[in-house]
Amino acid sequence: MSKTRILVTGGAGFIGSHYVRTLLGPLGPDDVTVTVLDAFTYAANPANLDAVQDCDRYRLVVGDICDRDLVDRLMAEHDQVVHFAAESHVDRSLASATEFVRSNVLGTQTLLDAALRHGADRFVHVSTDEVYGSIPEGSCSEEQPVNPNSPYAASKASSDLIALAYHRSHGLDVRVTRCSNNYGPHQFPEKIIPLFVTRLLAGEKVPLYGDGLNVRDWLHVDDHVTAVELVRTRGRAGEIYNIGGGTELTNRDLTELLVEACGAGRDSVEYVTDRKGHDRRYSVDWRKAHVELGYKPRKNFTDGLAETVAWYRDNPDVWGRTNQTKGSAPC
Ligand code: NAD
Repeated sequence: MSKTRILVTGGAGFIGSHYVRTLLGPLGPDDVTVTVLDAFTYAANPANLDAVQDCDRYRLVVGDICDRDLVDRLMAEHDQVVHFAAESHVDRSLASATEFVRSNVLGTQTLLDAALRHGADRFVHVSTDEVYGSIPEGSCSEEQPVNPNSPYAASKASSDLIALAYHRSHGLDVRVTRCSNNYGPHQFPEKIIPLFVTRLLAGEKVPLYGDGLNVRDWLHVDDHVTAVELVRTRGRAGEIYNIGGGTELTNRDLTELLVEACGAGRDSVEYVTDRKGHDRRYSVDWRKAHVELGYKPRKNFTDGLAETVAWYRDNPDVWGRTNQTKGSAPC
């Protein structure tokens, strides 16, 4: 039986590597091969892929999704794309948006063009709840127009629109997912959970933005990759699927939980000047993914957070590793 050849972009980052480890793990399908295409920016970690290094259905290509020739060659050898690669940190997009527009917008369009040229049968584009902008109450359905505020969110919204345009104009089978904030092991320590955990474990103070009352919905990375796989295998072309986690917390409440889980004192928290244009609250309505695909977040937040803290405590050598690649050169 021939195997489905999946090109996973950004597979050395937090969520992409979790997807690859899951797909090639004991519970994953055995009828797929996976090629990771990753540029190994600061956010990537070769250790994220150690677990699959020896799998004969896995290959690593170090390269940029904006490299048209490389992407073209790779796409000719693949059936499907699951696209995670992106610049993903809002604060960095406030300091400079150039790389966000390049990787997130131009990179996505480069992949879409190649997918179209080579007749890829599926393109799963992984996006974010941030494209909807801030919502004071209720939850955004997939019909809600995008209204992004940060350069990061605007670059993701742009890539979503371009991806959907390739479906509407050219008939390419594009499926878009929009998920809430992910947490779990193997995340580069710059976003709130891994940053605070690694600092608190080291006995350092943590910086809480503004009044700490911004609200986020937390989604365990296990649940997210399960949803992405459901969208890849059971979703419909041209559709958007919201993926929520079901645990809404203010950053202040989250910080209290992290302080406690790390055994730190309340004086570890320093309130700092708010992020520019800091969205107050995100919330997605994920009933469509539930009804159509059977998606439901399974991970209990208390357990997931405790396991995440334990992972950072036990693996300083892993998350502390630089992005020196162990993979093959660009093909
Ligand atoms: P990450 O920053 O951990 O990883 C991104 C990966 O993409 C890295 O391995 C990086 O090297 C790679 N990459 C970046 N630019 C590239 C380029 N030009 N060419 C090739 N590779 C490139 O990100 P993540 O948290 O794993 O997020 C994955 C996807 O999920 C992103 O598209 C992000 O927008 C989306 N998302 C993330 C979250 C979250 O909470 N982390 C929430 C919603 C959506």
